[in-house]
Amino acid sequence: MTQVENKPAAYDTPFVPIEKIVALCKRRGFVYPNSEIYGGVSGIYDFGPLGVELRNNIRRYWWWSMVQMNDNVVGIEGAIITHPKVWEASGHVENFVDRLVDCKNCKRRFRIDQLPEENIIQNKCPVCGGELTEPRRFNLLMETYLGVVEGERMKTYLRGEACQNIYLDFDNVVKSTRMQIPFGICQIGKAFRNEVTPGNFLFRQREFEQWDLQFFVHPSEMQQWFDYWKEKRFEWYEGIINHKERLHFREHGPDELAHYAKKAFDIEYQTILGWQEWEGIHWRGDWDLSRHSEYSGQDLSYTDQNTKERYIPWIVETSGGVDRTFLNLLLDAYEEEPDPTGKEPRTVLRLHPMLAPVKVAVLPLQKNKEELVTTARDIHKTLQRLMVSQYDDVSNIGRRYRRQDKWLAGSFSIQ
Ligand code: ATP
Repeated sequence: MTQVENKPAAYDTPFVPIEKIVALCKRRGFVYPNSEIYGGVSGIYDFGPLGVELRNNIRRYWWWSMVQMNDNVVGIEGAIITHPKVWEASGHVENFVDRLVDCKNCKRRFRIDQLPEENIIQNKCPVCGGELTEPRRFNLLMETYLGVVEGERMKTYLRGEACQNIYLDFDNVVKSTRMQIPFGICQIGKAFRNEVTPGNFLFRQREFEQWDLQFFVHPSEMQQWFDYWKEKRFEWYEGIINHKERLHFREHGPDELAHYAKKAFDIEYQTILGWQEWEGIHWRGDWDLSRHSEYSGQDLSYTDQNTKERYIPWIVETSGGVDRTFLNLLLDAYEEEPDPTGKEPRTVLRLHPMLAPVKVAVLPLQKNKEELVTTARDIHKTLQRLMVSQYDDVSNIGRRYRRQDKWLAGSFSIQ
């Protein structure tokens, strides 16, 4: 079993400060603040030349593992904007809220579910000790309007979670493919949340990307598939990180469960921010298809081809974040190697070769020897048809090696 419940912290290298990753990302072209020349927008980022390669590799690897390698899983790509009723049916209009308090003294704002219990009981700000306001509810859905004529415009929402498209397309997938329950539908896509306390770089953003598997099962097989995917997803994360002892499961207590979940486990990763959710494994039961059947008036039940039994399928959800994966991978991979000659430490990213933004570097030993340069260029040309290859003949060979250490495939073995 790879599953480790609440494993105590045991780490060999210190946690990397987020600021170091932010600085590296900007300096090397992984991530830039969005609209920076206008002062930026809190909780929104752009990805630079190396960032987009890493991001694409992360997405591709997830898709390969989840869709391409599983005969009982297919993929879709849904739109960001849906009919507004979707969000009533999903419960988000009513329940997708954060309860917030403000400090009357220092004016800081906190989510109640993130405050230490003693501060809630004593009604005290955890930073300055000031008095806190009464809790207020904020809905996280981002509103938008369709249509141009004032008064006839329809209010709807940018999707607050990507998975809703999967429920909306469930019946279409059943009718247009040969998929039979048990089977899953995957999707990677943007989601938008008016997070009241965005922060910690890519960890909590307002525009971010999620990956979801929604696996549809007969209710009698729910437990077995829930355990199966919980285990599979843990192994997936374990396979792409160096610090495996920093990964564990945490089960949600009854008060924490989202409105749709009867049972939930988070795969958490430990960083300088503490143990934090990386992906959620949720027992969604029949909530989603029942609600969409009720609100749309369309029957979304499923008929078993063999037994002719008709039922609303139950759902196991595994839902993680592309951006959180991006950040956690950099935090996991970042290392500063001391230089034996006393020069500046060497920054190395020990990324999984499947995910590393650059796969190979071609570095001719001398740039003024035509024979060497022609051969090196030919090798680079052949390689770049298959993978991201960089040709570099600027400065001495030692420097060029050091430069590449920051993003080349790391010390993992491919399994
Ligand atoms: P949290 O408790 O951290 O707010 P959540 O439980 O609301 O997260 P889910 O709705 O389960 O998160 O979303 C699934 C995944 O999407 C999370 O595990 C995380 O990786 C990612 N995610 C959620 N919110 C954000 C965000 N604001 N910015 C970046 N990634 C996010």
